[in-house]
Amino acid sequence: MIRLFVPHDLAEGAQIALDPGQSRYLAVVMRQGPGDSIRVFNGRDGEWQARIATVAKRGVALDVDAQARPQTAGPDLDLVVALVKRARLEVIVEKAAELGARRVRLAVTERTNADHARLDRLAAIAAEAAEQTGRLDVPEILPPMKIDRLLAEWDGRPLVFCDEAGDATPMLDVLAPQPEGAAILIGPEGGFSPAERERLRALPFATPVSLGPRILRADTAAIAALSLWQAAAGDWRA
Ligand code: SAH
Repeated sequence: MIRLFVPHDLAEGAQIALDPGQSRYLAVVMRQGPGDSIRVFNGRDGEWQARIATVAKRGVALDVDAQARPQTAGPDLDLVVALVKRARLEVIVEKAAELGARRVRLAVTERTNADHARLDRLAAIAAEAAEQTGRLDVPEILPPMKIDRLLAEWDGRPLVFCDEAGDATPMLDVLAPQPEGAAILIGPEGGFSPAERERLRALPFATPVSLGPRILRADTAAIAALSLWQAAAGDWRA
């Protein structure tokens, strides 16, 4: 079943006009035509059964029929990730969406050499990954923020700080179900500076953890940490 994330409000009898990209995807790539069924979701109103009403040059229009699934959301899990090269950052966002992160917060650290990211592109990647997974919410991608400020404004949720230094506790040993929400922190390719590491280790809400004896690339570390978290504390247990 084709699933599309749309910005429109969804309700029985609604008519929606898809944007040019999604219109092209449906009509040209997937060769769908009038009468064909798809599912749509907007992150708020659940998932809806819809039919293609018209395929025109200006785009595809859908008729929204009935709700197929009510809105649901996975665990309240944030991934905080230092900016890394674009291709790896895109992988991290896609995998975070697949692995059920609710938010991706981009952080600027001493050793990141970028302070901006293509947020529109990252949001599109997150939406496409959500479409494919069947999840009904799309992870929010927050604009880059200096790590000091991000930590100063922290809401207090437990922060699992992935620390490659080697002397931290294995991540699996510190995980327990976190009904109040949680976050995972991954550093940049150059790692955290000694000062940042000191500061992180002193935070009352942060726990340094190890992902094993090998240094992982940031994207691998993010995937490994999200997987461990979901398995030990998140919705892989259900
Ligand atoms: N440049 C650093 C490695 C950084 S790896 C060095 O060579 O020492 C990027 C990030 O992935 C790290 O900041 C950390 O958050 C995470 N990471 C990688 N390997 C890890 C491990 N074995 N345990 C915990 N975190 C790890």
